[in-house]
Order: sequence, then structure tokens, then C-alpha cells
Amino acid sequence: MLVNMKEILNDAKLDKYAIGSFNVYNYETIKGVLESIQERNFPAIISFGEKYLENMHFESVCSLVNSLSKDIEVPVVLHLDHCNNPENVYKAIKAGFTSVMYDGSSLPYEENVSNTAKVVEIAHACNVSVEAELGSLGAGVDSHEGNLEDKEIYTDPLMAKDFVQRTKVDALAVSIGTVHGMYKGTPNIRVDILKEIKEKVDIPFVLHGGSGTPEDVLVDCIENGICKINVNTEISVHTIEKMKELLSNGQKYHLSEISLLQVKFIKEVVDKYMKLFCKTS
Ligand SMILES: [Zn+2]
Repeated sequence: MLVNMKEILNDAKLDKYAIGSFNVYNYETIKGVLESIQERNFPAIISFGEKYLENMHFESVCSLVNSLSKDIEVPVVLHLDHCNNPENVYKAIKAGFTSVMYDGSSLPYEENVSNTAKVVEIAHACNVSVEAELGSLGAGVDSHEGNLEDKEIYTDPLMAKDFVQRTKVDALAVSIGTVHGMYKGTPNIRVDILKEIKEKVDIPFVLHGGSGTPEDVLVDCIENGICKINVNTEISVHTIEKMKELLSNGQKYHLSEISLLQVKFIKEVVDKYMKLFCKTS
């Protein structure tokens, strides 16, 4: 059942748990995430970023997710991750995405507000939820989303209040010290900033850069208003490590077996995070 993100994030906010948002870009990632959702009988978000358009078109992602999720009874969201180009936002909505992230965080503030507000107006008319971002995440190791020169800028709580009031977004991605990719050193997550934002803004918050974040920190973030947690890099790093191990032991594999093994390894990471996010409920 494909739904928009608003309802499941509001439920998560009320009961203080988080919904996992897992990045996909091929059959194996989509299958791995959906198998985990089905097994745990717990909702999750299938995230497809604009930067993976070289791997798949919006329409292909949508058809695959629809056909592979038809027997799943819990809500599944098909979400467009990090999209800087409003044209692509509209293409994704047209293809059947139920949720979008318009990321104008690198633009001057007023431009981010007006672009986001416009996207929200159109998306809401199509019953599609919108996530936006304020602040900027730093780049970690193996990041495939951020750029090396990305600088960490924490989300300003007062600006967040103004932004949410003016744009009417459904969820806000905050920057509190997580990074895109794996951490270079010990993570320093500013839950104090998150608490300050929460005092001023009453909508679900999103944590990007979930990969490698210590579990107790994630639980603390969920307690303080984070309702959606994005995981991308760890799925890729784990699966490639496991494939390297398998292929280096001399055994021969058929490509079809490799596909099945990839689904299994992808699911291992998704399971780990799904378990953690449900546990706090
Ligand atoms: Zn992100």
C-alpha cells in the first residue's frame, strides 16, 4: 500500500518512534528494503534520489515498487530524496511518487523559502507530502550524496520556525552533526540544538546521515522529535564488503546468484535499523 509520508510520520511523532528511509537505485535495493518491511510488518520509506536518475527513471522505480509491494499490508512511502531541481520534483509526482524532498538548502534563505512554498503548493494539491532542509550536512567518508566540500552548518531554530510557517512543509530535515557518508572521527551530535528546534517547531523532523551513527544517539534523537532517519552509505558499504569476501574465496557464482546475495546483504542493514527504530516505540 503506497501512502504519502505525512500520516506515518505524524503517527511516529505521537508515539516517539522513527520510520527508516532507505536509498534504492536498482532491483536489488528495492527488493531488499521491501523484504524487510514485509518481514517486520512495519512501515518504511523507499527513497530514490535525483542523483540516481542515471541508474533508473522515475517510472521504472515506481513500477517496480508498486509491483513488488502489492502484497505488503503496512504503509510504504515512495519518496524522492534530495532534489534540487523543481522540474524533477514534478516529474516524480507525475510518475507516482507519494512524497518528495525539495532541497533548496544551498540557496539563499529567501529563495529556499519561495521555491519550497511553491513545491508544497503543487505537491499538496496532488496529495504528495514534502520534506525540505535547512542547514547543511558535512561530508563523511564514502559519501555518495554530499560533496567533499560540503560544510556543516547547524540548523538555526528561529529560522526553522519561520521557514516551516511560511512554506507549510510536512517534514523538516535538520542539520545537528550527522554527516552524509560514514563518520571520519567520533560523531558529535548536537541533541541540544534538536531540542531547541523542537521547542519552536511542531512538525516531524528528519535526520539525514543515519549510517554509522551510534545507536544510543539515534534513540536520543528519536526521543526528541526525529521521526524519519535516512540510511544510504552503510547499505552500500556493507553489501560491497560482503561481496568482496564471497568473491575472494575462489568459488564461482552465476550473476543471478549474485543478485540474490545482494538482496540478502542489503536486507541485513535495513533489518538492523528497522529493529532499532521499532524498538524505541
Ligand atoms: Zn541526505
